[in-house]
Amino acid sequence: MPPGPGGHFGRGYLTEEEKANRPKVTKELLQRIAGYLKPYWKQLLLVLVCLIFSSIFSLLPSILTGRIIDDGLIDRNLGMLIKLIILSFAVTVLSNLIGVAESYLNTWIAQHISFDMRNQMFRHLQKMSQRFFTTSNQGDIVTRMTSDIAGVETVIGNTFTSILSNIITLVVALIAMFQKNWILALISIAVVPLFTLPTRMAGRTRWTLTRESQECNDEINGILNETLSVSGQLLVKLFVRENHEYKRYRTMNEKMMRLNIRERMAGRWFFVVLSTFSSIGPMLLYLAGGIMIMKYDSSLTVGDITVLVALLGRMYGPVNSLLNIQVDWVRSMAMFTRIFEYFDMPVEIKNPKNAITPDHAEGEVRFVNVNFGYEKERQILKDVSFELKSGHSVAIVGPSGSGKSTIVNLIPRLYDVWSGQVMFDGHDVRKLDLGFLRRNTGIVTQETYLFNGSIRENLLYANPDATEEMMVEACKKANIYDFISSQPEGLDTLVGNRGLKLSGGEKQRISIARVLLKDPALLIFDEATSALDSISEDLIQKAIDPLIESRTSILIAHRLSTILAADEILVVKDGEIVERGSHKELVNAGGTYTELYETQFRRAMEEGAKT
Ligand code: ATP
Repeated sequence: MPPGPGGHFGRGYLTEEEKANRPKVTKELLQRIAGYLKPYWKQLLLVLVCLIFSSIFSLLPSILTGRIIDDGLIDRNLGMLIKLIILSFAVTVLSNLIGVAESYLNTWIAQHISFDMRNQMFRHLQKMSQRFFTTSNQGDIVTRMTSDIAGVETVIGNTFTSILSNIITLVVALIAMFQKNWILALISIAVVPLFTLPTRMAGRTRWTLTRESQECNDEINGILNETLSVSGQLLVKLFVRENHEYKRYRTMNEKMMRLNIRERMAGRWFFVVLSTFSSIGPMLLYLAGGIMIMKYDSSLTVGDITVLVALLGRMYGPVNSLLNIQVDWVRSMAMFTRIFEYFDMPVEIKNPKNAITPDHAEGEVRFVNVNFGYEKERQILKDVSFELKSGHSVAIVGPSGSGKSTIVNLIPRLYDVWSGQVMFDGHDVRKLDLGFLRRNTGIVTQETYLFNGSIRENLLYANPDATEEMMVEACKKANIYDFISSQPEGLDTLVGNRGLKLSGGEKQRISIARVLLKDPALLIFDEATSALDSISEDLIQKAIDPLIESRTSILIAHRLSTILAADEILVVKDGEIVERGSHKELVNAGGTYTELYETQFRRAMEEGAKT
């Protein structure tokens, strides 16, 4: 039973990046964000212009109210009243129209930036090493690609512009207020700090809750990916872990629900406090303005007080969101930081500078004193040396977990050696062009991976230019053509999710045909350890034989027939090559090979003969 695509069923541990604390907003971070905005500076400038005009125009009707009251109503001047009302209406329409243009531009910019980021992220993730994918949590990768970038979209589309438009609105409103009456303007400003305290408190709570719910969300995604994937759910079923997994999911789901409730409520209380305070302002203004008109200042009019109250009303929104934006800001910075952390993960396996690209490949392989391990603390391969000449084949045998697959992983540079050298056609693989190296090595892996699609699509993946004849030819060679032509849809037969509609043997033969279409100089065949019946085995054997006859090949072999097809046998034990030679030489030597032969190969062969 192969492990699920979600990797192991690990408990909820945190990745380094999840542990990262509150983001530090540095100059570099801001510059980096600015770097994404830069290509759109012209559009951004236009947004700024739109913002200025729409903010000013949206305040004009409030300012005009004063004149409507004083010059129109109190003076009983109908002509003036109509003029002012029309003007007020026109300005509102204009402000709204500019608003539409501004939000279109805004959305356009935000979408383009997130489009750039998504592509960049995808490209970057493609370059990440095998190590990254075997160790990181899939839910986490998906969250980075989807929610975080979607968050960035909102930040650019809403947060940035609302900060700007709020600042502009506030400044314009303040100027207008001070022009009307500086004492009343000061009173209005005095009310504003009343917001600050509750906002700060709510901001802090919201920040913690948001982070917790994001982590919770990552974990839920991880559980879903692990338990609802094809292999994962199978594992769950076969080990009757449904209840256990359900409890695990339920616990996280409940945590999420509580967090959501708390997060929503934190916002709600904040709103209640704020709206209470916002009603105090106008009352104070009417009172102070009234006292001034009645007792002291005869130049102050009823219209002026109305304008001041209206403008104060227009200030609450911007102040409210500007204070809220502190939370949004921190949140967005966290998002950017997390995304950049992903971008900054070093690409472990890089195409070298001045890479060598030979004209053609022979597929020769040489290992020179190779030492390697997946993790620093645990060395797997110890001083491995061997040579494979062009046109020859070598079989690697050894107990399970001895490091056979690890040896071949080093050839197409899925990992790099700790020390020593892996040579391909006389060049250190780290000096060769990665594309060249990987194009010229073909691996039939133990666990066959087929994409959900037709057999044809899976074959074309190896060589998009393959003709129908080439495909038929490859399928014939791989001993799968009879099966394919027996299917009503032929090459267009669908293979199902990860090829699960086919048997193990059929899948493997299709993957052999796929490699044949790739036509690599070096063929690596990692023989499946899973038991196939002797008929399937025989079919696969017939597919392999002609393959390796004419080709440089490495066979990780579990069956005697495969081993016998190779020119040389390497016996690996605990990451070391302990014996090498031909079957004849090794079988009587009394070492590891003799043991393997007695326990594994011979029995398999005898069982095969019986059926
Ligand atoms: P089998 O015949 O069962 O396929 P193998 O000889 O091919 O076994 P390898 O797959 O090379 O064995 O594994 C060698 C050792 O390296 C094992 O102990 C395994 O646990 C470890 N190992 C393999 N892949 C990884 C990985 N991605 N990260 C960490 N350790 C790994």
